[in-house]
Amino acid sequence: MKTLKKILKWTGIVLAILVLTGISLYFIYLRPFMQKMKEVHVVQYDKELTLVLGGGGNSGILVSDSLVLVIDTKMDEAAEQLASQVKALAGSKHILVVNTHFHPDHEKGNAYYKGQMILAGGNYTPEFWLKQNGSEGVPTVWLKDRMEIPMGDEHVTILNLGKNVHTASDVVVYLKKRKMLFAGDVILNKQAPAMFGVADPAGYLDAFNTLPKQFEIQTIVPGHGPVGGMDVLENFRQYFLDMQTAAADPSKKDGLVAKYKDWGQIPFAMSPGATIRAFQKDKH
Ligand SMILES: [Zn+2]
Repeated sequence: MKTLKKILKWTGIVLAILVLTGISLYFIYLRPFMQKMKEVHVVQYDKELTLVLGGGGNSGILVSDSLVLVIDTKMDEAAEQLASQVKALAGSKHILVVNTHFHPDHEKGNAYYKGQMILAGGNYTPEFWLKQNGSEGVPTVWLKDRMEIPMGDEHVTILNLGKNVHTASDVVVYLKKRKMLFAGDVILNKQAPAMFGVADPAGYLDAFNTLPKQFEIQTIVPGHGPVGGMDVLENFRQYFLDMQTAAADPSKKDGLVAKYKDWGQIPFAMSPGATIRAFQKDKH
């Protein structure tokens, strides 16, 4: 009887600690992170190009005489706002939606583009997409390698990276005249990446090398965080190199992780620790 009481007492204490930890993590990290993610900033970059930042993944709207290109469709209210903005700009023009990848913060708004072309990376299948995201807004075009689209005086390249980086089929969009790369979650600005599923740190490092060789990049629109120059790529590369060092030499971990304390992160899921674990997993 005494032992049972003791067990019950300790189970209660452990449960209380777990619940309190959960609640504190929610209020300290998750809630501010989610609130920040909801903020939307519209930047009229030039006459034809509008950047709609936040509210899920960063988006772009490029308008030409006959076509409106939309990069990533966001989630929640921001997705609805983006869709009405796109429709107002498009009028009777065709709309081409590009999803940089299948995560909901980049594709939930697809549901607002019924009857339009929606393009995603061809390493996914419609069945996979359906299983992940439900039947609303499943892409209609599955890009295997690359697509070139002249849009007025702009030339657009849509490229499927074709191997595991952030996901199994990340798509980037390059605007040649503007020397601008929409990188999806392959490049983030001051935010730790989500290393879920097949996310591969070696794939990221490879992409940081190959993208600047394929495209002359002056401006980067990251999947999340502010727009910037090549420094956005270099900072994100340095983050991965630091986490690789920390994975190989745990004595350096604290110092290297501390460098990124100002970056957006969620413990365990999107954090330096998660990236370090991904590097360690990579080796086995
Ligand atoms: Zn994202």
